[in-house]
Amino acid sequence: MTVEQKVKELHHFISGELVEGASGRFSNVYNPSTGEVIAQVPLATKEEVQKAIEVAQKAFPAWKNMSVGKRAEIVMKFRQLVKDNEAELVEIICTESGKTREDAKGEITRGLESVDLAINAPHLLKGEYSVNVGGNINAFSTKAPLGVVAAISPFNFPVMVPFAQTSMAVAVGNSVILKPSEKVPMSALFYSELWKKAGLPDGVWTVINGDKETVDELLANPTVQAVSFVGSTTIAEYIYQTGTNYNKRVAALGGGKNFMIVMPDADLEKTANAFIGAAYGAASQRCMAISGAITVGKETADNFVAVLKEKVEKLKVGPYTEDDVDFGPVITNQSKEMVEGYINRSIEEGAKVVVDGRNPSICETSNGFYLGPTLLDEVTPAMEVYQQEVFGPARIVVRVETLQEAIELINDHELGNGVTIFTNNGAAARKFQEEIEVGMVGVNVPIPIPVGYYNFGGWKRSKFGEGYMFGPDQARFFTKVKTISEKWLSVDDETTTSFAFPSNEKDQ
Ligand code: NAD
Repeated sequence: MTVEQKVKELHHFISGELVEGASGRFSNVYNPSTGEVIAQVPLATKEEVQKAIEVAQKAFPAWKNMSVGKRAEIVMKFRQLVKDNEAELVEIICTESGKTREDAKGEITRGLESVDLAINAPHLLKGEYSVNVGGNINAFSTKAPLGVVAAISPFNFPVMVPFAQTSMAVAVGNSVILKPSEKVPMSALFYSELWKKAGLPDGVWTVINGDKETVDELLANPTVQAVSFVGSTTIAEYIYQTGTNYNKRVAALGGGKNFMIVMPDADLEKTANAFIGAAYGAASQRCMAISGAITVGKETADNFVAVLKEKVEKLKVGPYTEDDVDFGPVITNQSKEMVEGYINRSIEEGAKVVVDGRNPSICETSNGFYLGPTLLDEVTPAMEVYQQEVFGPARIVVRVETLQEAIELINDHELGNGVTIFTNNGAAARKFQEEIEVGMVGVNVPIPIPVGYYNFGGWKRSKFGEGYMFGPDQARFFTKVKTISEKWLSVDDETTTSFAFPSNEKDQ
């Protein structure tokens, strides 16, 4: 019997229950901390996706017609159930993603901000009303759910990102199909049961596991009205182009290259502390992770690198089961090799290794996918390691002479998710804030992730389509507006026929 045959076989979640995969195709799910295969996830065929969509569509009318307050109550119960089961959810996140317990708790907390906002859906669903816009006509607008909508998620936040993509979609009355990352499918199956316990009618919530074949049917199927995607830029662009080709509403969030500008007046000790957590936390597998520092002036660069070196060398990589670990492994062996490749090629291109995280000592005793922290200095914009998003703990320092140069560099980069500046100079911070071409901006804040009631999304090739994750925009993205002009005729009203285009010039 092979290892694969012994591991747990996962399912889909359709019509309120776990459903076995019928394709015979599976993908291995790893515990990145040990390198072991812990489960196999079924990869749905086109036909299985079609059946799941039919179930979701059937559940839609009753859910749409349930009062907004009753729907909000179910979302509120779901929130409480997540809190009640937090400890178990943390263990599942850590097992399948490798992140530390503290980090997993943080992602649940941030994910619940989206659920909190969804509980407020009744407020966000309020329409507009105007009295007597002409001839006793009242005009008003309403917001209606779209129908069946889909969310496709990345591996790095098994809870926070799907919560951000789906909570509002559910609350405003849609039937939602989640396609989690095949690398981390266990969290989604766990909280599917919580949706059911909260009282969500069967069919309103679906988890369909799979790969490209599954996603392609979600994109092509005419019943699916909107697609929320979060993942890498290449796939985000594909999802946006394909989904909009099928006339769907698509919001596709991609990768990031997020720089921290370090100004000459910054407190280097405090700035380095902020850099370390934001750059290496979660093994740098965050779309908003700080990818590198852009230091202004030679003295700033030399001093900052010296302070960083000392701190980076002390970081501890290891399994989440050890309490003093700063960050865990990367998600797969393939991911580890990709990051090592970036480091190797950057050295060939002339980058200077300040701290080398390749072959950390833990790899002598564990088969987990570990990489220690790497810091590369004297990186230039021509290098691959500067241009590409590196989804693992290899971080860079780019040296420039002026703030203007730093801003121009960042603005020239094709990605524009997050950025931050560390300075005590208000004029510099203001110039930066105004001129920077990036979606989420920080001033002396290491990871400028907006709170859940602000919209989240990058600029340039970090986001395709006019939709955001988190925030009030979610209510707009997952509803359509109907505008009604209404007049009630009394017996005394006289009517005439007019062939002129209706205007407010005279009462209609
Ligand atoms: P990914 O693009 O490889 O996968 C994301 C999803 O797309 C998964 O569900 C996957 O199954 C599916 N997918 C993969 N290849 C596909 C294909 N060819 N056709 C159709 N679907 C496909 O991303 P990942 O590695 O899981 O996640 C990491 C990436 O996500 C990073 O680039 C990170 O920056 C990004 N991310 C962005 C944000 C954001 O808010 N902008 C948030 C989290 C992660």
